[in-house]
Amino acid sequence: MMEKKSSMSFPILIVEDNPVSRNILYKILANAGYDVVATENGHEALKVFRDRFFPIILSDWLMPGMDGIELCRAIRKMQLPGYIFFVLLTAKDSKADIIEGLKAGADDYLTKPVLHAELTARIRTGIRILELEKSLKAAAEEIKALSVTDPLTGCYNRRYLNEHLLQEITRSRRYGRSLSIVLCDIDYFKRVNDTYGHAAGDIVLKTVAHCLNESIRKGIDWVVRFGGEEFLLVLPETEFRFALQAAERLRQTIAARAIDLTQTSVGLTISFGITGFTADSPDDKISPEKMISMADHYLYEAKKGGRNCVMGGSF
Ligand code: GH3
Ligand code: MG
Ligand code: MG
Ligand code: MG
Repeated sequence: MMEKKSSMSFPILIVEDNPVSRNILYKILANAGYDVVATENGHEALKVFRDRFFPIILSDWLMPGMDGIELCRAIRKMQLPGYIFFVLLTAKDSKADIIEGLKAGADDYLTKPVLHAELTARIRTGIRILELEKSLKAAAEEIKALSVTDPLTGCYNRRYLNEHLLQEITRSRRYGRSLSIVLCDIDYFKRVNDTYGHAAGDIVLKTVAHCLNESIRKGIDWVVRFGGEEFLLVLPETEFRFALQAAERLRQTIAARAIDLTQTSVGLTISFGITGFTADSPDDKISPEKMISMADHYLYEAKKGGRNCVMGGSF
């Protein structure tokens, strides 16, 4: 196995049993600045590939052991972090052979003897395609993230809640874990809008959302903008009594601070409705709807009880 590394360059895996041809390919690509690893057959290539991802594979067709077509099929079956641009090298150049290679999943082919300029041109084409794939993937991910995010507050939206709360509940029940939810509703929020204007109301919503997001465990809990001035915290692996404590701390924090607006600042309070289950909860059919309606019931109690308070009950 030959190896040449350069930190900035693009990784290419060469698979070629003929030592002379392997050396030539290696030198051309290494001199062109690529990060090249050369192997002697399909088996060796797969072994190297399992330890390290190569977005471009340049493989001979005829090789003892595993040939280029088999290698290509094996690679295409793998779950990989990105696309592989697979180029077959072959002395075969009948149409039928080329079709067989493309059918096996190859993206391109080069007939031997390989011309220096053609090889580097094909590799550059491969890189262009890989970069296009990368940017499409990034765009798709961004669209997906936007589709589950509330634009004003950056919290998750109802769509995300609908897709994920059932999942969280099912997982928690299966592993005998607890889960709590906290429904938060800003008290007399309409007055903020009426007094300071809608734009100020938006600032308040953003600040409250920020506060809520700061208060949760990153990567475990999550916050949904449930309604206009209502937020839902989902707290996996949290017993009801700890959710109560957490909400009480949050209630005090918010009630104690003043939220800066452009000209002035405003104080506000939040009411909380909480529910949760543990492994011992008798109801074996706990659903997102049941949990939310229970939390909503306690939120209503909190409002009725004078607002700025925490009410809850567990399953
Ligand atoms: P309560 O204590 O009973 O919860 O009273 P409240 O005034 O908070 O509740 P109400 O449901 O009467 O009013 C909610 C207000 O939230 C009304 C609506 O205009 C405002 N609101 C909803 N979404 C937004 C938003 O995105 N931005 C702003 N600025 N206001 C919003
Ligand atoms: Mg060969
Ligand atoms: Mg409300
Ligand atoms: Mg309100």
